[in-house]
Amino acid sequence: MPDNNKIVVAIDGYSSCGKSTIAKALAKAVGYKYVDTGAMYRCVALYVLRNAPFSLQQGVDEAWLQDRLAGIHISFALQPDGSQHTLLNNEDVEKQIRTLEVGNAASQISTIGFVRRAMVAQQQAMGADKGLVMDGRDIGTVVFPHAELKLFLTASPEIRAQRRFDELVGKGEKPDFNEVLADVRDRDYRDTHRTESPLRQAEDAVLIDNSHLTPEQQLAEVLTIFNNRLNSPAANN
Ligand code: C5P
Repeated sequence: MPDNNKIVVAIDGYSSCGKSTIAKALAKAVGYKYVDTGAMYRCVALYVLRNAPFSLQQGVDEAWLQDRLAGIHISFALQPDGSQHTLLNNEDVEKQIRTLEVGNAASQISTIGFVRRAMVAQQQAMGADKGLVMDGRDIGTVVFPHAELKLFLTASPEIRAQRRFDELVGKGEKPDFNEVLADVRDRDYRDTHRTESPLRQAEDAVLIDNSHLTPEQQLAEVLTIFNNRLNSPAANN
């Protein structure tokens, strides 16, 4: 049963713009569920990289993928430290899905209409009871077009590349900054130019440029917007 006091918060924006950081922090602060939809596309991509008889450079054999899609089960498991891990067919793949290779493959796989439709249906089911913060590229436009609160995050490509670079170094990878920057630009292009649900700011989304905001400043700003929305009549539509 949907809880009438709770809302759905849809967070969209460019890659490496800190969507999951703010989404997780907001969900924790207000006691909502958090769903990382990028992780779902990354799982499908990891499955393809592991099992497909073709290489992604040559393009996706869509008939092959369509046959297997029903057998790709994605779920989330709460860890004792409060973090969430992504499971692919019950295997914890949280670490494996966070590489540049899987991110690029996810960006390619997510252009396929039948993959998007399958993911969107699962995402909508997760929001049926409200009390949800979901981040991605099409959450405020396609998954929850009637979400009570929509945020659209942005930051300059250089700042996003630096954040992504630091994150990869933190994981023990040895990235090249210019490659990471080129990758950020490529992904922006693909995400905004694909025919299926391209990334765009919903008309009623609040734009937040976090280029010069610390995570704490951003959370404070978002909590103010969240509380205002909860107290405004629009939240009860
Ligand atoms: O957000 P993240 O970088 O983990 O997403 C991986 C890829 O999945 C993105 O580059 C994007 O192309 C795709 N994606 C999407 N729709 C979403 C979430 C992610 O197309 N809702």
